[in-house]
Amino acid sequence: MAGSSGVPKTPSIPTQDLDAHHGPILAALEAAAVRAIRSGRYILGPEVQAFEDELAAAYGIRHGVGLSSGTDAILAILMALGVGPGDEVVTTPFSFFATVGAIVRLGARPVFADVDPLTMNLDDSKAAERIRPHTKAVMTVHLFGRVAPTAEIEKASVPFGIPLVEDAAQAIGARERGTGRLVGAIGRAAALSFFPSKNLGGFGDAGMAITNDTELADRLRLVRAHGARPKYHHEIIGGNFRLDELQAALLRVKLPRLASWANARRRVAGWYAQRLVGLPSLKLPPIDDAGCVWNQYVVRVPHGRRDAMAKALGDEGIATAVYYPEPLHTQPCFSGLGYREGDFPEAEGAAREALALPMYPELPESSVDRVADTIRRFVTG
Ligand SMILES: *Cc1c(COP(=O)(O)O)cnc(C)c1O
Repeated sequence: MAGSSGVPKTPSIPTQDLDAHHGPILAALEAAAVRAIRSGRYILGPEVQAFEDELAAAYGIRHGVGLSSGTDAILAILMALGVGPGDEVVTTPFSFFATVGAIVRLGARPVFADVDPLTMNLDDSKAAERIRPHTKAVMTVHLFGRVAPTAEIEKASVPFGIPLVEDAAQAIGARERGTGRLVGAIGRAAALSFFPSKNLGGFGDAGMAITNDTELADRLRLVRAHGARPKYHHEIIGGNFRLDELQAALLRVKLPRLASWANARRRVAGWYAQRLVGLPSLKLPPIDDAGCVWNQYVVRVPHGRRDAMAKALGDEGIATAVYYPEPLHTQPCFSGLGYREGDFPEAEGAAREALALPMYPELPESSVDRVADTIRRFVTG
């Protein structure tokens, strides 16, 4: 962030600012932490129960099952659905690793379909083409806070009883365009993450599975505690996927504010769109999707100039991030699956061009101005 003199000219702009985010609620957070500490219950107690109930009620879903992380939420949902060795799960090659890591950890095979270049979400028509009668599940990802289209997937899966799972780690509270359905009510179940950078961020790792399916919720509760019911009698093989009381107590403080934070993110996205629209060769995320909760504001910088633009912003003290620099089908750990570079050109293009700009509810309009001015100078200069 140093200017040519080596002295910082202007304050830096981070990709997110958790100090600004937590400042106004610090006293309530501290009180919740003390309450949890003094309760003497640290795992799966009344705070977890209350958090599950409050989150489910806030989002009109029947069941919330608190889990140890978003990754474990994905894994537990797949386990509860009986996904295992040799099963095929249709999914996207452009997501955080956990989406596909969970599938492969269970011995199942990810069957990729390419993404939509505009939203970088799984293309539902292409996904539908990969669904076969023996497909065990479909996992879509609501990337960057935007609900992925599922109409074609549902046509190809619902009549055959093939469950759709939503990786909603980045999209808590998001609504589907057109129908207004909330994440968690679109598929059989959705995985939420409370990793600190997510829209509802905890103070460590935490996650949840939400579902309207009572039987599945029951099975998720079994899976999260080694499949035991009653204690020490193991019906199935589960894991330790439990949520801490401390995390639940802290997240309960933040939950009632989540909707207003989502609105603040929408406002920031609007500011970016206003200032960046029409700039040569820059591709902006669609802004006309009112249900998007904007976990990230990701632009695409074509012609191999993404990293140069990130550097130009960095030189002005503006932090950016690349989600994700490499698609999943070419990751070394999945080389045994037989996919190759070139198999999913849209996902590969997204990995080359995507750049996340600073995005958080407290981001001031003046900072958006600075980001936009720097980008304008870069693309027109
Ligand atoms: C963050 C994230 C996860 C994993 O969540 P953790 O809580 O970090 O385990 C899974 N999928 C996507 C798309 C994510 O962004």
